[in-house]
Amino acid sequence: DSVFAHLVRAPEDPILGVTVAYNKDPSPVKLNLGVGAYRTEEGKPLVLNVVRRVEQQLLNDKNRNKEYLPIVGLADFNKLSAKLIFGADSPAIQENRVTTVQCLSGTGSLRVGGEFLAKHYHQRTVYLPHPTWGNHPKVFTLAGLSVKTYRYYAPATRGLDFQGLMYDIGSAPSGSVVLLHACAHNPTGVDPTPEQWEQIRQLIRSKALLPFFDSAYQGFASGNLDADAQPVRLFAADGGEMLVAQSYAKNMGLYGERVGALSIVCKSADVASRVESQLKLVIRPMYSSPPIHGASIVAAILKDRDLYNEWTIELKAMADRIISMRQQLFDALRARGTPGDWSHIIKQIGMFTFTGLNPEQVAFITKEYHIYMTSDGRISMAGLSANTVPHLADAIHAAVT
Ligand code: PMP
Repeated sequence: DSVFAHLVRAPEDPILGVTVAYNKDPSPVKLNLGVGAYRTEEGKPLVLNVVRRVEQQLLNDKNRNKEYLPIVGLADFNKLSAKLIFGADSPAIQENRVTTVQCLSGTGSLRVGGEFLAKHYHQRTVYLPHPTWGNHPKVFTLAGLSVKTYRYYAPATRGLDFQGLMYDIGSAPSGSVVLLHACAHNPTGVDPTPEQWEQIRQLIRSKALLPFFDSAYQGFASGNLDADAQPVRLFAADGGEMLVAQSYAKNMGLYGERVGALSIVCKSADVASRVESQLKLVIRPMYSSPPIHGASIVAAILKDRDLYNEWTIELKAMADRIISMRQQLFDALRARGTPGDWSHIIKQIGMFTFTGLNPEQVAFITKEYHIYMTSDGRISMAGLSANTVPHLADAIHAAVT
């Protein structure tokens, strides 16, 4: 008998499992709104033109090899990633107080940051918004932190529970880590206003909490890289310490290349360099060093003004298509006279709409209309097109009437 005979079958991942179910459905009208990946108007994955061009250049460059990267990754990539999120004129960068290490996309950056904190930080509790991206609790628990939540979403308004958030963060023990979605909160699509961010910042600093930003959608929310980085820059500007996990999965469409970065802002250059030395000890036994290809693409784009501009145009086009899908879905529900206030569809931002559909309604929509989404009613707006909006609107209408 197998030495693994005692294993029970593990359930599918709640998010990735949606695609597994979708793939099994033979219906020609089936629609996958579960996966958080951009799709074109034709429903196809998109490789940005600027990425294709850079890949061609990399391929033609005979001086390139496939040697190992250093433990912390590609130096240019790290420098440029910090600049992208903190801003070109960031004092923290100029004062060498930021250490940035290339990691395996957003998830790997969160994990390395979590492991580092569990090993070296005096407070082992991280507060996550409720709800949050389903992988957050697992990443931080397995990193060795203890996970608690703060209120974030108010179902009644389908907006931010700002009072609940301030109360819960304000009640966290001094020093606790607070995870914040930099923009385009997943799954709710609900972000604090600039004024609310400032109040959150003051509260976090006054209670000596440690902010850990998850920036998986810079540029994807508003279409503007600087605008989407504002919350991170607001915290960096006060000189306090913080962590930031960046992902290039969405904003450069580099999902499978697994390219991201972890930055830790410190009080001095000396501390930052010691932090980096310890990050290496976290990374080395985990995967030794990160992959070279995706980071080379990102570095090439970030360091060349023309390529960078081309990127921002393609990025804005993706963001704009998503925003237009929001409007089209909202209009389609209004046209059908679907009961309820659906204005949250156009108010929420980023890749997802938190529809407010309950698990029974979601199950009904999947069974009767072959439309797939996570059971919390989250739909990826990037998976919609002008062709499929009417089908979804019909489904939602039928589910709520
Ligand atoms: N954080 C959030 C909030 C996300 O939505 C995602 C992607 N779904 C990630 C992190 C990590 O994605 P990746 O590891 O592909 O960069």
